[in-house]
Amino acid sequence: MARLNIELIPVLRDNYAYLLFEPETGTTGVVDPGDAAPVLAALEQRGRRLDWVLITHHHGDHTAGLLDLKRVTGCKAVGPRAEFARIEGLDCTVAEGESFALGHAVAEVFETPGHTAGHVCYYFRDSEALFAGDTLFVLGCGRLFEESPQAMWASLGKLAHLPPATRVYCGHEYTLANARFALTVDPDNAALAGRARRIEEARERGEPTVPTTIGEELATNPFLRADAAPIRQHLGLREEPAAHVFAEIRRRKDQA
Ligand code: ZN
Ligand code: FE
Repeated sequence: MARLNIELIPVLRDNYAYLLFEPETGTTGVVDPGDAAPVLAALEQRGRRLDWVLITHHHGDHTAGLLDLKRVTGCKAVGPRAEFARIEGLDCTVAEGESFALGHAVAEVFETPGHTAGHVCYYFRDSEALFAGDTLFVLGCGRLFEESPQAMWASLGKLAHLPPATRVYCGHEYTLANARFALTVDPDNAALAGRARRIEEARERGEPTVPTTIGEELATNPFLRADAAPIRQHLGLREEPAAHVFAEIRRRKDQA
């Protein structure tokens, strides 16, 4: 099956949309266009016609460009079935266990409730690429607007089981703040400390920190490491269920 070319398009203040190009059929998609203009500019620059918009969840910073892109390009849009009524312009919907084909590149769909109740992630196995929206960030995770910490912990668990080499393309450049927070709950993690230094340098040079990988996140992201002994020990939560430790980390981040 086909491997995608993936390009990052900065939109709005700190969002990322992603341009996907499937070379066997020439099919083009864009993930989470929070604004149409930068997407249209990228398409024009590359001489490509847009076929599909892929939406992870209903928030405006991920969907606001959808209708303009449809109007200008005639493309179609796919998004989470559970949020169909909250996203104007969807032509079809996907749910847990279903797949979506962008030309010959096939995405498996995971429902990842937490940030929103109907949030989905798109996993292109043959491209080793996950589009995680606002579920998993570099060294962070989405705020819990519509679901419980237990639900989000279970959602993150689905993503944690993907192959470690999987590249994770997330919805925001929140990495610097996430790194500084991560060090407060996992201060003795040498891999995290080294990564935080590299992130500071990358952001000083104005470079994006996306994509990350599942393997890197498992080693350094405190929201995936809620069950790890050093974090439990640091938070004084040795016996509690991992979802409770996760909830405490999320609570601290919300107050940071
Ligand atoms: Zn969001
Ligand atoms: Fe967002």
